[in-house]
Amino acid sequence: MLSVEELKIAAKTVQNENKKFFQKIKQKKPRNLDTVIQEIHEEVFAEYDCLTCANCCKTISPIIKMRDIEKIAKYLRLSTAQFIDKYLYLDEDEDYVFQSTPCPFLDNENYCMIYEHRPDACQGYPHTDTHKTLKLLNIIEKNVVVCPATYHIIENLKSRLKI
Ligand code: SF4
Ligand code: SF4
Repeated sequence: MLSVEELKIAAKTVQNENKKFFQKIKQKKPRNLDTVIQEIHEEVFAEYDCLTCANCCKTISPIIKMRDIEKIAKYLRLSTAQFIDKYLYLDEDEDYVFQSTPCPFLDNENYCMIYEHRPDACQGYPHTDTHKTLKLLNIIEKNVVVCPATYHIIENLKSRLKI
């Protein structure tokens, strides 16, 4: 598995190739897309320990929906207004995101301090294990430059998806 430093170089190298590959998937809409990517997801994450990485939590913020806000605020014994004021801001798309990266809930050993209550977007990350892969292609393509596992999943997908 690539280190985060190696990923920066590798992801840049395959950027144009990936653009064409994702475009082709959008045009052809292969029926087995979800099944194949889920299989690869299982294989790649079986070999990878996210606690050695945490690059997602260190470098990007999830979108935090109102139900996430209510859930986390309750857990932290804050009002939703206090939670928003302390941790969040509205980005240019009018979505709530964390005020800073690394995430304020990432501890020094890469554990999530609110794991059981983390936002839905964190639970689904890197979105390579869903029944909605086609809809999430743009997000998955962006994740290739952040997530070493996603890089490997997509490299595998290129060889296994017959399109
Ligand atoms: S999901 Fe990806 S970026 Fe996040 S910790 Fe795991 S391998 Fe690293
Ligand atoms: S809430 Fe937890 S899983 Fe989500 S970005 Fe923060 S540390 Fe990572």
